[in-house]
Amino acid sequence: MHYDPLISSSPSHQAWPNSYWANSVSQPTPLAKLTGRKQFDVAIIGGGYTGILTAYYLATEFEIDCCIIEANQVGFGASGRNAGFVLKGSGRLSYPQMSAKWGLEVTKGIYREYTAAVHRVEHLIKQHHIDCDKQANGYIKVAHNRAAFTKLITAAEYIATHLGDDAQLLSQQDLQQQYMQNHQAFGALRLTEGFGVNPLKLLLGYKAIAMSSGVTLFESSCVQNWQTQPNGHILQTEEGEVFAKQVLCAGNAYTPKQINSLIDNRYLPILSNVIVTEPLTESQLLATGLKTHQVIMDTRLLKYYYRLLPDNRLLFGGRGAITGSEADNPIYAKRLKQALCDCFPILEDCSIEYNWTGWIAAALDDMPHVFSQNGASYSIGYCGSGVAFAAQAAFRLAQRIAGEAVPNLPLYQEAAPKFPYAKYRRLVQSAYYQYAWLKDRYF
Ligand SMILES: Cc1cc2nc3c(=O)[nH]c(=O)nc-3n(C[C@H](O)[C@H](O)[C@H](O)COP(=O)(O)OP(=O)(O)OC[C@H]3O[C@@H](n4cnc5c(N)ncnc54)[C@H](O)[C@@H]3O)c2cc1C
Repeated sequence: MHYDPLISSSPSHQAWPNSYWANSVSQPTPLAKLTGRKQFDVAIIGGGYTGILTAYYLATEFEIDCCIIEANQVGFGASGRNAGFVLKGSGRLSYPQMSAKWGLEVTKGIYREYTAAVHRVEHLIKQHHIDCDKQANGYIKVAHNRAAFTKLITAAEYIATHLGDDAQLLSQQDLQQQYMQNHQAFGALRLTEGFGVNPLKLLLGYKAIAMSSGVTLFESSCVQNWQTQPNGHILQTEEGEVFAKQVLCAGNAYTPKQINSLIDNRYLPILSNVIVTEPLTESQLLATGLKTHQVIMDTRLLKYYYRLLPDNRLLFGGRGAITGSEADNPIYAKRLKQALCDCFPILEDCSIEYNWTGWIAAALDDMPHVFSQNGASYSIGYCGSGVAFAAQAAFRLAQRIAGEAVPNLPLYQEAAPKFPYAKYRRLVQSAYYQYAWLKDRYF
């Protein structure tokens, strides 16, 4: 049964999904469970990019003794099953929307954090020789209709004028000649930074550097109870408990709906679905005009994201079901295959060899929030863009836990707002999907 954060009370006893990534590595031997009573300065719930890298920075930059408590095996959450796009950005707010909300200086500050996030991932890969199949640089945002291309022109001007980045506009013809003959593309904007990786290899690389820096990692240990005391926190699992002065909840979209009032009802878990084709033949590559391994996303409200993998399979992702019980319904993979064929009709007969889903977390205000209060912290709401940002969030979390100041930006200073009428989050989500489907198709 697929874990559902709004239904199941704990994400325990879950295996890795049968993803393309899981088939590209040998599954590591499980680490020991948490047993008995232990004490650490900092305890971290969740062994994804956020949890592991925060622990790594706490250990290496601040010599703080910390442990990670992971419900399953590292690789179970979104970090082990995403599409591997390392992008400058997180959440869903565009830079002009941020400017309207907070002004240009704050927007520039957020942009600097997003830029630093991509550089941080690049640096970690290089510094620690993490073998994660890093692909060519470049992020192509494809306009799915003419109106969307007009918006991309405005976006490119904004980026160049206010953020000083090199946003390259590609006409429909440029796109066809240089990158792909996509039947659903009306031009594109290309940013030079951003690249694809094997996300699970990246995560296992992070796990190795955290462990060799002295971080303690418990697996198959789901935190079922979190008690706050005047001098610290007690986290209880099935077979043990940890006392820590500070706690970070890095469960992100996989956090069960009730864990601590600091986090409850502050996120909406959304399913994203990925399919991977068989390797494309030379003639299929020629017919699709696919000449790039750069990462691609479109401008729809319900976005499709895709890229050629190193072995020339096409990875293609988009929205999945709404509930965990529907997650494995084959209709969603079928819809993705149809969307893929709308872009590249020649791939009609191409078979799909992998299909899996996973949860991403959206915040009510479409922004990630890295927040701390009374010795408890969380980082949530990357909304499908967390591969890069999780690294920056982790660095900032470590700084804050160690008592250092972090930038004065809404990302780091504001709590994620609570969803009003949280019980009805999914009804609103369902209505939004219908509206977005119509908008993407007809406007
Ligand atoms: C299908 C899919 C495609 C995506 N594609 C991209 C992409 O291409 N680019 C991008 O930037 N982002 C993408 N994302 C989003 C990205 O993967 C996430 O933002 C990021 O991995 C979040 O990392 P994390 O460490 O915060 O959380 P996770 O990796 O989800 O880790 C959370 C961990 O916490 C554990 N946990 C939860 N509750 C408990 C508990 N009570 N006790 C113990 N452990 C607990 C879970 O078992 C889990 O392992 C995608 C996500 C999905 C699902």
